[in-house]
Amino acid sequence: MKRKETIAEPDVVLIGGGIMSATLGALLHELDSSLNIQIVEALAEVAKESSNPWNNAGTGHAALCELNYTKENPDGSVDVSKAIEINEAFEHSRQFWSTLVENGLIKDPADFIQPVPHMSFVRGEADCDFLKRRHQAMSGHHFFERIEHSEDPKKITEWAPLLQAGRKATEPMAATRSTDGSDVNFGSLTESLVRFLDSSDRVKIATHHQVRDIKRSKDGRWELTVRNLEAGINRSIKAPFIFVGAGGAALPLLQKSGIPEGKGFGGFPVSGQFLVCSELEVVEKHNAKVYGKAPVGAPPMSVPHLDTRIINGKRSVLFGPYAGFSPKFLKSGSLFDLPGSVRLSNLKPMLAVGKNHMDLTRYLIQQVRQSPQDRLEALKAFYPEAQLEDWKLVTAGQRVQIIKQDKKKGGVLQFGTELVAAGDGSIAALLGASPGASTAVSTMIEVIERCFPKRMDEWRANLKQLVPSYGANLITDRKAYEQLKARADQLLGFS
Ligand SMILES: Cc1cc2nc3c(=O)[nH]c(=O)nc-3n(C[C@H](O)[C@H](O)[C@H](O)COP(=O)(O)OP(=O)(O)OC[C@H]3O[C@@H](n4cnc5c(N)ncnc54)[C@H](O)[C@@H]3O)c2cc1C
Repeated sequence: MKRKETIAEPDVVLIGGGIMSATLGALLHELDSSLNIQIVEALAEVAKESSNPWNNAGTGHAALCELNYTKENPDGSVDVSKAIEINEAFEHSRQFWSTLVENGLIKDPADFIQPVPHMSFVRGEADCDFLKRRHQAMSGHHFFERIEHSEDPKKITEWAPLLQAGRKATEPMAATRSTDGSDVNFGSLTESLVRFLDSSDRVKIATHHQVRDIKRSKDGRWELTVRNLEAGINRSIKAPFIFVGAGGAALPLLQKSGIPEGKGFGGFPVSGQFLVCSELEVVEKHNAKVYGKAPVGAPPMSVPHLDTRIINGKRSVLFGPYAGFSPKFLKSGSLFDLPGSVRLSNLKPMLAVGKNHMDLTRYLIQQVRQSPQDRLEALKAFYPEAQLEDWKLVTAGQRVQIIKQDKKKGGVLQFGTELVAAGDGSIAALLGASPGASTAVSTMIEVIERCFPKRMDEWRANLKQLVPSYGANLITDRKAYEQLKARADQLLGFS
């Protein structure tokens, strides 16, 4: 999708052509089709950074398998509140995607979402005990009551044969499995949303255009300096509302805007690599996303997993991520991104995080120094019979973790996402990348609620049509959840 069109004075500018801007653009266009929307993307095409299917793991994060979403309390009980919150947020995404299918905006849901069971897998007595307690705690909520648990090697083999072949039967192991899980091609979804937007006269898309500066103009609107990277010329775009959906590069753009709400934030980039196997013999034996436990010191998003991927109809198996360090904020970014983001206001939190997270530093150094054999050993913990020659190493996207001011510690590293918006709602930026693309719809609804409060009375009913779970409390209203889940299952090809 290559476009060069710009509008001098749109109502809305979306910086970046990833899943976040595409989702926000589609929602806003559906809520008010008279809005003039400008999308500005630095690369030649949309969905080429984190939202590209090869740059992320494609897990529809519904907290069905990710052990890092449930914390063990000191008394041994398991806190499932975050898992519940994430599952509800993912259901909002499924509801909006179902509407796109229902309205014919996406012809075949299999182009972007496929049912793939989600599993958690652990070994050793302590972890098996944790998984059992976790399963008990989770199955008490209607979101998770269909999750199965087993410590029987035969059952686990039935669920995921690669995990068991060549493994000693004496080793304690346990797994949980949910058939509600999914693999999502966020790149394909982004392209579909942008294609839909592109069909409107009110939406203009400028690829190969990079936002270089954001300033408040005298009339209160935002003035963007946008560089046409092919022609080598700058142009100015003025708009009353801007969404900074620039992925890892959102932080420097937020800093340029100078809004007080953006002060004190820093970014810590973590890069990732995956091993990918396309060998039919391996691919045909695996149909699951299997998440394990993160090694000590590893950031939560570095939980290892052995995943079925379905990209453009082709199945493969992916393992990782192996973390790494690069100062770039985007895969296509610059080595000066991290040093260039240091300001007087974020220096203290950044130094505090450097000092307080030595375990993370050690973990990253260990990861960066890994040899192919070390990577194979990590893979063998999941797939004991793996052969190195069947796997290819690919570089994934960059994740920029949020560094925030903290009164007690000076600064903290945050692994979630944070929506930073100006008090007057004229600009919003999304920092961080977890749970990421899966929760794009609820995060973009939050942008709309915070930045367009005066229009909410008029938009609420329409928003409910677009996202039928909007306004419902799926966490407490079991009946509404079951009805809506059945709707999405049917429209997305899960039932
Ligand atoms: C290794 C890895 C694994 C992940 N796994 C998962 C997963 O399994 N499930 C999940 O839900 N999420 C996952 N995520 C997170 C998910 O990929 C991201 O949260 C999501 O893609 C972010 O979308 P975005 O639109 O904000 O950013 P992006 O997709 O990165 O898009 C930002 C766009 O902005 C453009 N841009 C940047 N600066 C400018 C500028 N100045 N001017 C114009 N354009 C600009 C970029 O070129 C880019 O196209 C993963 C991420 C990574 C890195």
